[in-house]
Amino acid sequence: MRIEVIAPHGFCGGVDRAVRMAHELLDRVKGTVYGLHEIVHNESVVGALVSKGMVFVESVADVPEGAAILVSAHGTSPAVFEEAKRRGLTVVDATCPFVLAGHAKIRENFRNGMRTVIIGKPTHAEVKGYLGEEGACLPEDLRPGERTGRVVQTTLDADEYGGVCTATRDRQQAVRKFVESELLKGLSPSSVGVLVVGSPKSSNTGKLADIAERAGARSWRVAGTKDVLSIDFSGIEVLGVTSGASTPEDVFDDVLEGLSPLT
Ligand code: SF4
Repeated sequence: MRIEVIAPHGFCGGVDRAVRMAHELLDRVKGTVYGLHEIVHNESVVGALVSKGMVFVESVADVPEGAAILVSAHGTSPAVFEEAKRRGLTVVDATCPFVLAGHAKIRENFRNGMRTVIIGKPTHAEVKGYLGEEGACLPEDLRPGERTGRVVQTTLDADEYGGVCTATRDRQQAVRKFVESELLKGLSPSSVGVLVVGSPKSSNTGKLADIAERAGARSWRVAGTKDVLSIDFSGIEVLGVTSGASTPEDVFDDVLEGLSPLT
């Protein structure tokens, strides 16, 4: 089996920035530092921060008054920022600039008298944050004939929805291109595989696997190297390996090493 590393893959700029901000905050602040929602959907990144003393919470109400809190790359709603201010919390905002642009768009639409439909998973922190803006709504809340704007969760399929962040789009295009170029070489779809490294909770990781399948390949998701052992790669001649935007490079490298006996 031939192994091909698909590029770009792994940490995007927004995740890299948020993780760096979290470590800097932990180095700077004495006492417990809180993180609002898991900083990114990756157990090893979260685990490293927890072992340095970060406590992750789902609500600012769980943070003692006056403490420091980091808002994750997924962002949050204006009401949460207001509550944090009321409680005297020191807020470090690691919201990704692409997500901030989504919030700005919703506010602009509202100022122009328009509501904004949010396309995405309603339970995802990014989408919940958007829905906290005035004038944001879910598709099912639309009134017939209403003129609206649209903001798409940054990690959805760029081809299907458009408007997602460039990091997501570049990683998705690289997977599609890899599968298409292998099929063009004459390989059958059942002999082309894509292995996506990332947490089962990571939305963008799941999308990469869906895109590989839609392009005609077989695909698998693994959280780490031990998951590779349970996969039956029989019939696969070429395996592209990629990773989600929240997957650290050392986890990716471990998986590549785990695959080396199969080459
Ligand atoms: S996937 Fe895109 S929007 Fe999400 S953190 Fe990364 S760069 Fe930002």
